[in-house]
Amino acid sequence: MRIRDVVIGANASMYYKLDFRKIKGVYYPRNTQEVIDIVKHAQSNGFTVTPKGGGSGLSGACTGGNDERVMISSLQMKEILTISKDQGYIDVQPGLNPDQINEFLTPMGMRFYVAPSSRDIATVGGILSTDGGGNDTWVNGTMRDNTIRVKMVLYDGRLVVVDHEGVKCNDTDLEARLNETGVTLHDVASSHGTLGFITEMRLNIRPTVKETLVGGLAEFSECNALGKVLIDMIERKSPIRYGEAITTAHKDVRQDFDPPLLILEFPKENEEDIRDITDYKPLDAKELARMKDIRIKLPKRNPKEGVQFALFEGYGFHGDNLLKLQDSLDEIEALLNSKGMAPFGKYGHGPSKWYLGDNTPTYGLILHSREIRPEGRTGEEMLNTVLEIVEKCEELGVTPKPEHKWPFSDSVKKKRLDEIRQVIGEGFNPFLLSPECNDVLGSMV
Ligand SMILES: Cc1cc2nc3c(=O)[nH]c(=O)nc-3n(C[C@H](O)[C@H](O)[C@H](O)COP(=O)(O)OP(=O)(O)OC[C@H]3O[C@@H](n4cnc5c(N)ncnc54)[C@H](O)[C@@H]3O)c2cc1C
Repeated sequence: MRIRDVVIGANASMYYKLDFRKIKGVYYPRNTQEVIDIVKHAQSNGFTVTPKGGGSGLSGACTGGNDERVMISSLQMKEILTISKDQGYIDVQPGLNPDQINEFLTPMGMRFYVAPSSRDIATVGGILSTDGGGNDTWVNGTMRDNTIRVKMVLYDGRLVVVDHEGVKCNDTDLEARLNETGVTLHDVASSHGTLGFITEMRLNIRPTVKETLVGGLAEFSECNALGKVLIDMIERKSPIRYGEAITTAHKDVRQDFDPPLLILEFPKENEEDIRDITDYKPLDAKELARMKDIRIKLPKRNPKEGVQFALFEGYGFHGDNLLKLQDSLDEIEALLNSKGMAPFGKYGHGPSKWYLGDNTPTYGLILHSREIRPEGRTGEEMLNTVLEIVEKCEELGVTPKPEHKWPFSDSVKKKRLDEIRQVIGEGFNPFLLSPECNDVLGSMV
């Protein structure tokens, strides 16, 4: 294994130009005590610490920037510790991914219901740190909704247990201060490794649901109409088990898709309710599977000319914004075009759920975006475009990157993380919250 394999993100990440000499050690602990020893060693030598799971995070956070740092990987922390079917939880180490947990649970008729597309590589520690979820967050919630509590090692080696109520710690002074600050699991969710290293997690599990599902395809002449359908589904809490919108697909790869459209799967008994909201065309199981396959392969293909890439990757449309979906998309597209990018694909989960930086649950459409890469652009230019898109999102009331949130694009979350770090120390992933973060990330594109 080479050091670059440990440090850079998965191949979907755009951050790969790192100064490897700044990495002072890569550790693979097996338990909480080993993590404590490593963190204390890093602290006493003045090195910052970057936690790393599967490396599939797209925000650049798992690289650690270019600080003199140690990396701690959770990939040797893959034990299942306890399971209670009756009480509906499983205690695990953070390096397991959802597929591995479900491989263990399936024979028992139980399931862990968090399923990002990266569920075969993303670890549960990493998923909580980005508050990820799949195209079923609408039904099953994000990772924070499915986590009961975590154990976390802080930069000075102290261990805290954080749940939805607050914090417990052997150090009663620290416990009191963190509880006065109101720290809960909401703060650990989407903290991008800036608070501490998660060493154990208690996760919600539930019996496997058995139901008969049917498929449908709703097609629209423009996206505002699609947005209205999503609003109706959200208001009626429609039991959509799979909802994928495609608003743009390049002609070379779209096959017989004619966007905008919505691929749906829902319980048979709800056929009439869904028909009441939108006039969908029924899909048999084979046709539904084919549609899902075209959708999942879209971002993996290239047009005949040029190469597609993920510059920004995610837009969260919610509330009234869904009624102006087409108008907002037109504005975003115009910005991208002005930077030399041609549209390749926009597709994503709807209805869906995510949290805003102030922990408000939000419901809407998470749209992923792919463009055809322009030639000759520098990393700095690319990152500046990303920052302009963040500004555009703020202007339009769209959540930037709802799945892979970047702390530096969310001032509310950033302020909160700063507040907590003043109590617990600032040695974990400091580059992410520093004013130089954009320059550091720009130099790595
Ligand atoms: C092909 C692909 C598909 C994807 N699909 C989805 C999707 O459908 N939904 C979605 O939400 N995301 C998706 N993602 C994004 C990605 O999978 C998530 O961000 C994931 O949650 C990161 O998990 P990880 O283990 O790879 O973490 P990493 O990338 O290793 O790290 C992510 C962050 O978590 C921190 N971290 C990791 N482990 C710990 C720990 N033990 N303690 C404290 N902090 C820690 C890191 O410091 C970093 O800040 C996708 C990514 C790819 C490449």
